Amino acid sequence: MNGSCLCGDVRYELKLDHINMYQCHCEQCRKQTGTASSCGSVVRDEVFVWLSGEGNIGVWEKDSGFTSHFCRSCGSSVPNKFRGYPYYWIPVGTLDSANVVTVANLYSCEKARWSNVVSGVNSYETKPSIKSLVKLLVDTDSE
Ligand SMILES: [Zn+2]
Ligand SMILES: [Zn+2]
Repeated sequence: MNGSCLCGDVRYELKLDHINMYQCHCEQCRKQTGTASSCGSVVRDEVFVWLSGEGNIGVWEKDSGFTSHFCRSCGSSVPNKFRGYPYYWIPVGTLDSANVVTVANLYSCEKARWSNVVSGVNSYETKPSIKSLVKLLVDTDSE
């Protein structure tokens, strides 16, 4: 499956046939995306390929360590290397077409009152450890 930013400068490919997604309802994700929650995933290094535009990616970092990687031309969120881990973070909405399974809600305690949450999936008041999150998101069938 392929993904791209709004203007098409930044393009990437995931060598996967489906992707597991979390929705994070924290205030930082809400501000960053301008929507109720951010829809993200984590994939292994080896299934991720940059196709174009890697040099056109800007980075902004908050004091807390929260980072936002974006296309310098159109401002869309774009994938980024998961710091210190052999994974990439994927903004799921940038996928051109995808078979997506929602597996978790994060930061339900910060959820906007006007926001709807996908029910029937793992729900966390804040967030699980990175290890547990990766376990939920990364497809281990192909190991
Ligand atoms: Zn762009
Ligand atoms: Zn968040």
